[in-house]
Amino acid sequence: MSLTVLMNAGPWLSVPPPGYGGIENVIATLVPELRRLGVRVVLASVGSSTLPVDEQISVFADGQFAALQRPYNQVCGIAQAHLAGVVRELHSRDDIDLVHDHVEAVGLATLAAMGPAGPPTLHTLHWDLAKHPALYGSLDGGDRVRVNGVSASQLARAPLALREHSVGHVHLSTPLAVDADRRPRPDKGEHLLILGRINPGKGQDVGARLAHRVGIPLVLAGPVGPYHRPADLAAAGDEARQNPDVRFFLDEVAPHVDGDLVRWVGTVAGQERDDLLASARASLFPLRWEEPGGTAVVESLALGTPVVATARGCLPELIEHGRTGLLTADEEELGDLVLAAELLDPDECRRVAAQRFTPAVMAQRYVELYERVRQSASAP
Ligand code: UDP
Repeated sequence: MSLTVLMNAGPWLSVPPPGYGGIENVIATLVPELRRLGVRVVLASVGSSTLPVDEQISVFADGQFAALQRPYNQVCGIAQAHLAGVVRELHSRDDIDLVHDHVEAVGLATLAAMGPAGPPTLHTLHWDLAKHPALYGSLDGGDRVRVNGVSASQLARAPLALREHSVGHVHLSTPLAVDADRRPRPDKGEHLLILGRINPGKGQDVGARLAHRVGIPLVLAGPVGPYHRPADLAAAGDEARQNPDVRFFLDEVAPHVDGDLVRWVGTVAGQERDDLLASARASLFPLRWEEPGGTAVVESLALGTPVVATARGCLPELIEHGRTGLLTADEEELGDLVLAAELLDPDECRRVAAQRFTPAVMAQRYVELYERVRQSASAP
């Protein structure tokens, strides 16, 4: 297939990410499969990215994740200007067929502003858009800029103006799903796990209270704002409270973290993350937002860990109630479901992940969408 895609991962984290990094994990999963299908990939990321690609461009040497706190606009401005220059040049030489963008504030903002002079663009929506309508207020790229969702429920909740630009949705996947058949059945421990950013939407406060109520150990893994380790947060002092996720953690979650029944272990990565997830009796997603994509949900299934969650956002699309997890609309029921999750079969979770959520399935679907985007961009 002769197709060159400029994949914009943005300036926040390297690809693959050092630990936490939903969008960067998606790109790290997708790109090798696209290349296997013959797609040439130019990656716009940061210099420290190590993902094998055909060409890499970067304006920052390292990820600017810490700037998500304050010099955000400055970092966005630099990244936008750089991307615009690169895209203009590559497009004028016919060196790219399409931009696949994942970063609204950098990529989409830049590409939409280019007007008809820009290349065909597919922007993947990664957020709950009903909650952030302003993000896409100015989307205007005519038929040249198209969007895709990461779940049907995310698209259904998106503002109409955005849905009109949609070419469909693609569920997230995980390379772990490929291994599902080959891995030995994981030894299950006693603990529940919430894997993800510590954030009110992810509901770690609900989970922590639940753990005390049912007397089951709970591990919270993930960053609190820009802080990846408990020691870093402790060292940051009062300054850290400027970040809303830090305030949420300190005020709503930390009072239940006793280091014994409920522990916050910070960000986990690689084998440590996989082992923690595979050995959990269940993954818990006590969501308070409409989870748009849920990479960690899919990863959990791939490692044979059933999911107990509030039935919000994409969860009902990803989880088959009674087969790969247990869902409820009522937060109060989560405790009962955690106990009942023991009845679910870890191997069944892995089988379903290996069928539905492999990188090959995701890449094939994206290639179809690329074709649709190119066709609509060239339509008279
Ligand atoms: N993650 C990780 N270590 C952590 C917490 C999260 O590697 O300590 C990864 C997790 O495995 C997943 C991603 O970060 O791949 C989070 O993506 P998800 O779609 O679940 O959440 P969001 O993008 O909303 O943060």
